[in-house]
Amino acid sequence: MPTSIPTPYYLLDEAAIVANMQIIARLCELSGAKALLALKCFATWGVFDVMQPYLHGTTSSSLNEVRLGYETFGNNSADKNDEDKKETHAYSVAYSADEIDEVLSYADKIIFNSISQLNAFKGQAGAKNIPVGLRLNPKTSNSSFIIADPARPFSRLGEHDKDKIAAVLADITGVMIHNNCENDSFEAFSDSLADIEDRFGDVLAQLEWVSLGGGIHFIAPDYPLEKLATRLKDFSEKYDVQVYLEPGEASIHGAGSLVTTVLDTMHNGKNLAVVDASIEAHMLDLLIYRESAPIAAINEELIDIVPADMAKTVDISDNTIIYGRSCLAGDIFGEYALPNHLQVGDKIAFGNAAGYTMVKKNWFNGVNMPAIVIRRLDGSIDVQREFDYQDYKASLS
Ligand SMILES: *Cc1c(COP(=O)(O)O)cnc(C)c1O
Repeated sequence: MPTSIPTPYYLLDEAAIVANMQIIARLCELSGAKALLALKCFATWGVFDVMQPYLHGTTSSSLNEVRLGYETFGNNSADKNDEDKKETHAYSVAYSADEIDEVLSYADKIIFNSISQLNAFKGQAGAKNIPVGLRLNPKTSNSSFIIADPARPFSRLGEHDKDKIAAVLADITGVMIHNNCENDSFEAFSDSLADIEDRFGDVLAQLEWVSLGGGIHFIAPDYPLEKLATRLKDFSEKYDVQVYLEPGEASIHGAGSLVTTVLDTMHNGKNLAVVDASIEAHMLDLLIYRESAPIAAINEELIDIVPADMAKTVDISDNTIIYGRSCLAGDIFGEYALPNHLQVGDKIAFGNAAGYTMVKKNWFNGVNMPAIVIRRLDGSIDVQREFDYQDYKASLS
């Protein structure tokens, strides 16, 4: 970590991003699928130049996201036959009538979440010759968290009734199904795809494209990438559809850290340290999912410390709890069995801080906002963006 830059900052590593990109590109090459970056996970457009050569475009969950993808992710030539043109997909849980024309001005495809939204806006999409899709809900999923489970009971995410879907087939050319969340099991993915085929097979056979969403953790080192590619290729040939994938986390997994400085240490039954960032404000996803941040480095030393496994730690009274500086009592990055006790001034980099972090950051407690720092492919360091009091003030009135 560059020591001269004031903390806190998010540090993005372009080489690590490109390593993920190469895996995605290989999967696409072997399977024929097209990959779109899910902007809701990661939208730090300062690194899009190194990502876009490997991906086919972006997908979105709002007007702002579809516009950002259109404006920042490579070539958006109006010429649909332009080989290098990136695709910009639009999706939202619910569009409002006053934004739909602007959404369509950026979109190459639009996917509606419900049949009522489809009926409300298909005319406007048709007038602009924009292909239309519908989100399907297969009522099964691979997600270990109920809050992130699109197939949770009474889910609003997509249509499930095959008769109703069959009745609108003339209005759509494709569907989107997103029902995985960090699923690292090929077998589980394949089984749930088989379930989708059982449920919707005759619908799929009448379409031109099927997006299978994100949440497939195929960048794990031991993931059977070739098997996944074959499964996707067979699927695409069986139904004669173009398959899309929408990787968010897989695009940037392991490619970012949040670099902080220890401001204070205390002792209360265990060693305590307070850093100059906040889990609630800067890595909110971990708080929501009740997870802890891995440590990627302490001072100059690159290490890989996972949060202490209480079952395995012999003397937990020597553990260190690292807290954020907001006043939330549970603003905790994690509890760790560290090689040395932390000192004021120590720099701690928390790992895997690229996805679902910068897109969720907020000004809770007025805590200073981490800068965005990029380690470029050539090794140079850019302080891409800094935030100050004026940004905080402007966000409130
Ligand atoms: C969240 C989401 C994604 C990206 O999911 P990851 O788990 O980050 O890969 C893709 N598509 C849709 C529709 C989503 O909601």
